[in-house]
Amino acid sequence: MPSTRALIRAPWSASKISTALRCPRLYHFKYVDKVREPEVMPEARIGKAIHAALEDALGGTSVAEAAARARADLPDAHEQARYDQLTANIAPFIERIARFRRRRRVVRQLVEFSLAVREDFTTTSFYSGDAFYRGILDVGYVFDDDSIALVDHKTGVRIPGTSIADQLEGYVVLTHAWLRSASRFWLGLHWVAERAVEWGPPVGSDEVMGRMRPGLLDNIEAAALAVDDGPRTNPGSWCERCSYRTLCPASREQRYEPVEYEEDDEADD
Ligand code: SF4
Repeated sequence: MPSTRALIRAPWSASKISTALRCPRLYHFKYVDKVREPEVMPEARIGKAIHAALEDALGGTSVAEAAARARADLPDAHEQARYDQLTANIAPFIERIARFRRRRRVVRQLVEFSLAVREDFTTTSFYSGDAFYRGILDVGYVFDDDSIALVDHKTGVRIPGTSIADQLEGYVVLTHAWLRSASRFWLGLHWVAERAVEWGPPVGSDEVMGRMRPGLLDNIEAAALAVDDGPRTNPGSWCERCSYRTLCPASREQRYEPVEYEEDDEADD
């Protein structure tokens, strides 16, 4: 069973865990004080628009219409131009998915599918007060042989050596709880900018129960511990993409650190 410390901070999600582990101050801005973001990063807006366009297109809307609809939410020509570059890759992805569905016997497609579990991994609704861990699947395909493929769209830069399992195992745990008949899970990352879908090796139910569930609980405990002693700052390269950086003293110090001149430097001039 999770600790009281983890329970009182529920519901957890993959992004809430990673935020807590990366920067407790950011966690407090977002999840404790619920401060409205002073600035939304262009990358976040573009990523959200791409996700919306993909969701629409996978739902049956024409790619052109789906792309135009989401584009309207972007505030300026610069962001729209970057969005247009990425949306050029949506049609090939939709065609690839269509070919894949013709080859495999897909019995169900899940798009932007909300899932939640209680602390004992029984299922509950996403917004329920007893939700302990929850997430929204970008897209999943249930096959007639009790296997399921889960795909997460990534609109950022592909980071070499990124572990597919680290990013998707929370979704596997959720899907395993919800689709009891599923016994084999394929995990894929869709790198939109690169028109690439990267697949990991398939995972069976034993691994979900024996490794992924305990691993998820360990991560939640580590995240709860990291934020337990208050809004400690943890500045790093990620501050440049932090929506709260204008409110954060650590970020200001890091960005505007005064330059100190040595006497010898002045003598050299
Ligand atoms: S600017 Fe950096 S240190 Fe400050 S809250 Fe954001 S991530 Fe944390």
